[in-house]
Amino acid sequence: MPAYLDNAATTPMRPEAVEAMLPFLSDRFGNPSGAHAVSREARKALDDARDTVAHHLGARPAEIVFTGSGTEADNLAVLGGAAARPGPTVCSAIEHHAVLHACDALGDNRVVAVDAAGVIDLDRLAALLDPTVSVVSVMLANNEVGTIEPLAEVAALVRELAPQAVLHTDAVQAFSWLDVAALAAPADLVAVSAHKFGGPKGVGALVVRQGVTVRPIIHGGGQERDRRSGTHNVAGIVAMAAAMHATVESRDATVDRVRALRDRLADGLVAGVPGCTETGNRATKIAGNCHLSFDGVESEELLVLLDAAGVYASAGSACASGAVDPSHVLAAMGMTRAQAVGSLRLSLGAGTTDADVDLALDVVPAAVARLRTG
Ligand code: PLP
Repeated sequence: MPAYLDNAATTPMRPEAVEAMLPFLSDRFGNPSGAHAVSREARKALDDARDTVAHHLGARPAEIVFTGSGTEADNLAVLGGAAARPGPTVCSAIEHHAVLHACDALGDNRVVAVDAAGVIDLDRLAALLDPTVSVVSVMLANNEVGTIEPLAEVAALVRELAPQAVLHTDAVQAFSWLDVAALAAPADLVAVSAHKFGGPKGVGALVVRQGVTVRPIIHGGGQERDRRSGTHNVAGIVAMAAAMHATVESRDATVDRVRALRDRLADGLVAGVPGCTETGNRATKIAGNCHLSFDGVESEELLVLLDAAGVYASAGSACASGAVDPSHVLAAMGMTRAQAVGSLRLSLGAGTTDADVDLALDVVPAAVARLRTG
């Protein structure tokens, strides 16, 4: 059996989510914005899903805006937040491109440095905040190295030094592992994406707290209280709610089990492969993240060997037009180019087993050794 260790890229759908969505792909096909019985049935399902999603995000139903992805939720937060209150944006150096590029597109973005473990530098943040700032965006957990950011401390600084600003947090990678309802409570805007916790791709949500204005970035029929137009993806939204519910029900047990698997995997590889360094600090990381760097290895080549041996992972670099580009996250953490291009992300999920870890502990050292001997 191959080992799928790329759960930060996407997760398999939970059976509860598949089951919940199927009727809305067939008999229950109504447009929830209509006025007849078929529409009312879809509207009821949408309302129920909104209640569930709101509950698990610590929000009111009216504060939920359904979107077509985590990327769209981040864009709505940044672009819609800044449109409502012009001014510079501030974000951490390790934000996902959905935030970073949206901030860059606005033309006046201040980037906050992180330390070697990927934790935001609060002194640097304080130095970049002032009353003109419009949107501050700091993720709850990072997608590459798994670092959990100190959002409560960030929020305290924002409230004190940039009182007009809205605070956005990208909780896309956090939901499987952390109590987002509690940890994201200090934020005005919170983004999630269904396919990262057992829901379908192409559906997400943004919490927009009562009293916080975001201007729409998609214009049309005025759905979602005029904050996001477009006919609702009822099947996707219903499935996202089911996946959320199933995730939260089993989250504590999953975190404990997966953390033990991750520790065994990371300890085994660090001990078993010379020149293998673990990235970040386990104490401030989500349980599913195992990020390693191998001296003298190019991870693009490593991934090919792992793929052939049935271990599915991803790298800390992206190969664009023939040149290997080290990730902005690893660069911000102070990794050298050589370390960054030799890095590997093994991301565990709710479905990861002991057998997956055994296979990776077998395959990764052999693949690294093979690359080093040429
Ligand atoms: N934010 C983070 C931290 C992510 O990891 C991702 C997906 O990789 C996104 C945003 C984008 O989410 P989506 O794939 O739903 O567009």
